[in-house]
Amino acid sequence: MAFVITHPCVGEKSGDCVDVCPVDCIEEGEDQYYIDPEICIDCGACVTVCPVDAIVDETEMAPEDDKYLAKAKEFYGIS
Ligand code: SF4
Repeated sequence: MAFVITHPCVGEKSGDCVDVCPVDCIEEGEDQYYIDPEICIDCGACVTVCPVDAIVDETEMAPEDDKYLAKAKEFYGIS
């Protein structure tokens, strides 16, 4: 399980999440930031600092946000 950065980040990219992640698993992509699902420890620290509420628990994601988990996996080369 992991947290996933979804659609509000696209075009926003505040990057506040990067500074609070204790395991340094958030990286900047071309149009949004991404959480490495294999490193995230589910602490939730990034969720509270995101100004656009873009970060959600993988298990509570809306079906239409599934593509953002797939996008993160693709970004990190996870199959
Ligand atoms: Fe990093 Fe915690 Fe957010 Fe996972 S939930 S990306 S470990 S700050």
